Amino acid sequence: MSKQILVLPGDGIGPEIMAEAVKVLRLANDKFDLNVELSFDELGGAAVDKYGVPLADETLARARAADAVLLGAVGGPKWDKIDPAIRPERGLLKIRSQLGLFANLRPAILYPQLADASSLKPEVVAGLDILIVRELTGGIYFGQPRETKVLDNGERMAYDTLPYSESEIRRIAKVGFDMARVRNKKLCSVDKANVLASSQLWRAVVEEVAKDYPDVELSHMYVDNAAMQLVRAPKQFDVMVTDNMFGDILSDEASMLTGSIGMLPSASLDANNKGMYEPCHGSAPDIAGQGIANPLATILSVSMMLRYSFNQAQAADAIELAVSKVLDQGLRTGDIHSVGTTRVGTAAMGDAVVEALRSL
Ligand code: NAD
Repeated sequence: MSKQILVLPGDGIGPEIMAEAVKVLRLANDKFDLNVELSFDELGGAAVDKYGVPLADETLARARAADAVLLGAVGGPKWDKIDPAIRPERGLLKIRSQLGLFANLRPAILYPQLADASSLKPEVVAGLDILIVRELTGGIYFGQPRETKVLDNGERMAYDTLPYSESEIRRIAKVGFDMARVRNKKLCSVDKANVLASSQLWRAVVEEVAKDYPDVELSHMYVDNAAMQLVRAPKQFDVMVTDNMFGDILSDEASMLTGSIGMLPSASLDANNKGMYEPCHGSAPDIAGQGIANPLATILSVSMMLRYSFNQAQAADAIELAVSKVLDQGLRTGDIHSVGTTRVGTAAMGDAVVEALRSL
């Protein structure tokens, strides 16, 4: 039976980078007999323009029915002043939570060809290959109650709530261990158990899950130390698992170790490995429409989709190798360009990956 992929290009550079990712996916489909079928719809600002809301009910229904969703990026100045309830980013949060995508996987991989693009010394980051597993549908971003109020003395105060249930921790911990098992078998769980009750439960549950993974080496680290270690000696990490807020911050920090956000894919998975795949970056309105955006994060998101949702490791490996070969050829979009390399636009970069994949 064919696999159905819903493609949501989104806003800004989204349609430009998605066009290149689709070219690569179509070739991989032919080359590896993947039997995938693509359909297209809108999310974010483009959906506001077409449907009046950033995620239409029919789009959500199509996403539920699909085997995977491939997303570009959403948002832009055109929609910054509209009713906050229908801002483009609301569509993104809604599709993630409605599809139950609780596990966000963000690899931070530094291609050796781009070692100079990192702000850290090449020897600190060369060969970097970390996977951050972030809990995506719980914790302080969703916790209730949350409130801003005025106290009796007239002073304003606000609070949020950081709740985690045992089952929420257990399922994300399992994803972390499963990922570590197929990589270098090291899992670092990041928390703030010296201060937070939710982190104390987090640590206890992670320890319990560890009993099912005797082959994986588990360590715990406080989040402040983890932030420091990521810039001091990032190669000590293999897989990191952490809660929603800590993961939000640490994964952005880790992504910048690699020099460009234009290189980094991500996956958000549900309990059955159905997923939504998207680049880590946003819609980059400052460069939209100029044909200069880096499509590689989106192309690498296709590779993650084939690996995690469709179990097509050979095709996924081939796409990653094709990207590496194009970097070997010295082709660079503006965000990763340096002296001695050849600056190319979005379509030329996509075409080069297609050619490299074809010739493998
Ligand atoms: P951004 O990631 O869009 O851009 C940050 C910087 O990185 C910009 O200078 C941009 O030109 C550059 N950049 C990003 N992707 C690039 C690429 N592929 N190639 C080359 N350069 C690239 O973040 P922002 O400027 O903070 O946000 C812009 C819009 O995107 C906002 O509306 C924001 O809400 C939205 N956003 C969406 C997502 C998403 O869809 N997942 C994520 C973050 C931000």
